[in-house]
Amino acid sequence: MKIPVVDLSQCSLCEGCIEVCPSVFKLNNAGYIEVVELASYPEMEVSEAIKCCPEDCIYWDKG
Ligand code: SF4
Repeated sequence: MKIPVVDLSQCSLCEGCIEVCPSVFKLNNAGYIEVVELASYPEMEVSEAIKCCPEDCIYWDKG
């Protein structure tokens, strides 16, 4: 299964991914972007988040 991954070392916390794809990306208690654990991920929405990310730090882990 393809799983979205965020490279936190590059993430600027703009929260754009949360706006575009709130079912997958959230801000965790530590103040970092976290990928919600899902049985499967909405490919279109995640692709949109990947496109929108200003730091290019979201990618698919092909598992
Ligand atoms: S869109 Fe990219 S830079 Fe912005 S919060 Fe999400 S992962 Fe971080």
